[in-house]
Amino acid sequence: MAIEQTLSIIKPDAVRDNNIGNILAIFEKSGLVVKGMKMLQLTQEQAQEFYAVHQERPFYNSLVAFMISGPVVVSILEGENAVLHHRDVMGATNPEDAAEGTIRQLYGANIDNNAVHGSDSLENAKIECDFFFAE
Ligand code: ADP
Ligand code: MG
Repeated sequence: MAIEQTLSIIKPDAVRDNNIGNILAIFEKSGLVVKGMKMLQLTQEQAQEFYAVHQERPFYNSLVAFMISGPVVVSILEGENAVLHHRDVMGATNPEDAAEGTIRQLYGANIDNNAVHGSDSLENAKIECDFFFAE
């Protein structure tokens, strides 16, 4: 296995619910190392570009509106097999389907408000880390 980097976003619902620390604790306890972090307010243009892959989906406009509804915390997480490991720690997209102890099971309310984003492949992880941490 290889050391990888992946992008995490703690979404506006989890920031509003005061769960930044709880979520970071789960990352760190799982072996992921925080290599970069910032809190920011996404613009509509940034959110549209970040989720452009979903632009034909019926939930695209509501997803963009949700992602700009408040500040987010973006992080680069590093570790063994980090992309898939992070997806495991996050849990399924729909919190109703997320395994016990995963972030989305613990802190996600529903599929629209599911607390966290994580890159889905090593290729997308590089693109997404550069999107927020190009400098
Ligand atoms: P993931 O975040 O697990 O990678 P996707 O990339 O498929 O999931 O979708 C991106 C985000 O869009 C999800 O995290 C979720 O907030 C939202 N989403 C996905 N599918 C739906 C859906 N069927 N209805 C509403 N929102 C959805
Ligand atoms: Mg995805």
